[in-house]
Amino acid sequence: MLKVNLRHLEELGLHLKGELPVAELDLDIKDDLIRLEKPLRYDLAVELLNDAVLVTGSLVLPLDCECARCLKRFKTDLKLTGWALHLPLEGEDKVSVENDCVDLTPFVREDILLDFPQHPLCRPDCAGLKSKTARRPKAVEKTVPEVWAKLDKLKLK
Ligand SMILES: [Zn+2]
Repeated sequence: MLKVNLRHLEELGLHLKGELPVAELDLDIKDDLIRLEKPLRYDLAVELLNDAVLVTGSLVLPLDCECARCLKRFKTDLKLTGWALHLPLEGEDKVSVENDCVDLTPFVREDILLDFPQHPLCRPDCAGLKSKTARRPKAVEKTVPEVWAKLDKLKLK
């Protein structure tokens, strides 16, 4: 788990840098096009404010994707740079502290999921499977003469 020990924070703050195994992130990804094979990399500065913990930094999760249009495999990174997390230690929304530690994992999980790509594309303008246009399903071919027929009627008017 990605934890912050509040005792270590008291004076100067902390710098957390490392990797978190994907299994511990426990992302429930139902997308067959995206595989997670590498750990999340984090690089975070943690400060203790008067009544809160402030976490800022970056999260990088390598993704092994299959393009939703052309099915090509490609790798990309889900990057959250300038990530900031404000965790109150007092009041109604206060974060749970166990043995002086705050677990950052659920917050990381939530923000990774919010940014998770829905339809991974190898590049934004991917044209899809060009080679397969020649093998168009018959149903599509049948509609083509109909379209021409309609166009011919339009020209006659
Ligand atoms: Zn593609």
